[in-house]
Formats: sequence, C-alpha cells, structure tokens
Amino acid sequence: MSVDHILEKARSGERISVEDAIELYESNEVEKIGEVANEMMQKWHPEPITTFVIGRNINYTNFCDTYCRFCAFYRPPGHEDGYVLDNDVIFQKIQETKDVDGTEILMQGGTNPDLPFEYYTNLLREIKKRFDITMHSFSPAEIWKMVEVSGLSLEEVLTELHEAGLDSLPGGGAEILDNRTRKRISRLKGTWEEWIECMKTAKKVGMHGTATMVIGFGETMEERALHLKRVRDAQDETGCFLAFIPWTFQPDNTNMKAEKVTPEEYLKNLAISRIFLDNVPNFQSSWVTMGPEVGKKSLTYGCNDFGSTMIEENVVSAAGATHKVDTNLILRLIREAGKTPAQRDTKYNTLRVFEGDEKAAKDFIMQN
Ligand code: SF4
Repeated sequence: MSVDHILEKARSGERISVEDAIELYESNEVEKIGEVANEMMQKWHPEPITTFVIGRNINYTNFCDTYCRFCAFYRPPGHEDGYVLDNDVIFQKIQETKDVDGTEILMQGGTNPDLPFEYYTNLLREIKKRFDITMHSFSPAEIWKMVEVSGLSLEEVLTELHEAGLDSLPGGGAEILDNRTRKRISRLKGTWEEWIECMKTAKKVGMHGTATMVIGFGETMEERALHLKRVRDAQDETGCFLAFIPWTFQPDNTNMKAEKVTPEEYLKNLAISRIFLDNVPNFQSSWVTMGPEVGKKSLTYGCNDFGSTMIEENVVSAAGATHKVDTNLILRLIREAGKTPAQRDTKYNTLRVFEGDEKAAKDFIMQN
C-alpha cells in the first residue's frame, strides 16, 4: 500500500501517529520518505548549512555492572583489564581537545559501582577550574548508578552534578525505549520510563540533552514507533532534547547474534524519525557506525548535523565500527554533499561558518 497519504499529512504540518510510523517502517518507499524528511529538516534549517562540533569522547572507566548483551566495551568490576583513568590523563585529553579548537567533552563510561558520587563532582570541579569547556557527559545509566551509590534522589544527583560543572546530558543508552527489548538486551539498564525520567529531570534542573536510538536488536516496528512517541511526548512536556541521534547496532565482537542493519534501513529509520519528531530541531548523522558515505547521504534524509569529531570513541570501536573521521574529512564530506560546513557548540549555536572561505578552511585543516 502506498504511504502517500501519511507523507501528505506530514507535509501539511499534521503530526503522524504511531500507526502511521509503523506503516512507514513497513514500506519500501525509502526515497519518498527521505524526501519529506528532507523538507521537514529544511523547515527548521532553511540555510544549506551542516554543523559539526569539535569534541572528544573520554571513556573514563570500563568497569561496569550492567552487563548489556550487546556491549564489547565493559569489564566486570575487579576484572584485570578494567580501568579508571587518572584525573591527570583526563586533563591531558581535555587540553589536547582545546588545542584543536574543541569545545565539548563527552565523558562516558560503565556503571562503575566502586566510584563514589564525590568522584564525579570533584572531577567536574577540577575540570572547570582548569578549562573553559562544555561538559556534555554521562548517560542515564551512569546517573542512575550515582543515585544508587549516593543514596540521593535523582533530582539531587543531577542538581549537584550541574552545580559541579556538568552542562548537558548526551542521552546515551536509550537503545530502544521499550521494556520488552530492553529486558532482552540490557536487563539491568533500567526501564524506558527511567531513561525518560532522567532526561526530563536534567532539564528541570537546567540541563538540555540529546536523545539517541539504536535499531537492529530484533525490535518490532511497533517498538521503534513507540520509541519515537516517547521521545516526542517528553519533548512536548519539557523541551529537554536539543537533538536526536539514531544509529544501528554493530553486532561484530559482541555476544549477540543479529543481522547488521543495512544502510537503507538506517536511512529509512532516520527519515521516519525526522518526520515523527516534529518538535526536535536537530538531527545528527551517524557516520561513526554507518561510514562517511552513508553519513553524507544522511544529510538529504533529515540530518542537519554531522555530529562530533569524536577524537576517541572506544565503546563503538570496541564493537568493530572503525570508520574514523577527522575534522578535515568532515569538512570535505559536508562540502561534497553540497552543504556549507559550520562549527557549532553543544547548544547548536554556530561558532564558525566555512562559507567559501577556502583560506580559513585551509588554515583550519592545517592547524588540525
Ligand atoms: S553499554 Fe554501557 S551500561 Fe551497558 S555494559 Fe556497556 S558500558 Fe555498561
């Protein structure tokens, strides 16, 4: 059956329903869906600009007691290959990020039961004493572990983190926001309700975040649609999300057997998400998992942002996604896609447009 009636509905500004989204997921008309997603993106971003942020991922610990089935990164507490980075190593990584005009640090690690809550607040304070940098760090699973370890409430934990220097939450670990799939893949990670509650509470205490989505765990199309609905509802209620970042599960090197999601399926999910989430302004391309060429294509399927330079990304690379892209390549790919690259900050404010400014771009590339 044609999906034209749903796409027309979206074009006219009407919201699509969970049932509509399921129909789109079941359709093969990927290009048509992509076209409408591109129009929706252009409503938010009429200029042909694609942004990116210069940032670094710091995986400060790989000890984790959540044992997600799909994760190739973690080590159980006490394991000989486990680590917690020394603060000096973290400071060094931040300095290196500053040295290449970086503005954002994404600290993410396992849910380490041996780290007291003060570890995080002290570290944030020490970082902010030394650097003018945006701390876009910790996913809801880590935050909930801090709640457990500290005995404080969720709101108290987030307030203290914010006061110590945390600026925003990356919203990792959303995977699929439905408890049937969550139980199957990450039984101990918490429910979808807890994930949403964490992001909404972060906004309440003054921090924005982003929402992620990972497909390819054998979830149903209904579960994918429900994921979108739950993000849209939370956004209606609090405006907590600055961006949506969908990507695909990478089964290599993990204990989970699953078919790798095709680039078409990634693009379709991206486009449906852009159409469904009419209240989320920014969509990030997922070049780390899908590779630069698909990343480039995603800019006509709803994305206005090329994500982070991600100087370091152990969690994804441990599972075999080896598409490393640096700033230089990001500038080139965005241009090849017919867009103008611009560096942004974590709040999606443009810092620097590389518009026809070949010299600036060249200088920039030389420096980096
Ligand atoms: S995905 Fe995160 S929470 Fe799950 S096992 Fe890996 S490090 Fe732990």
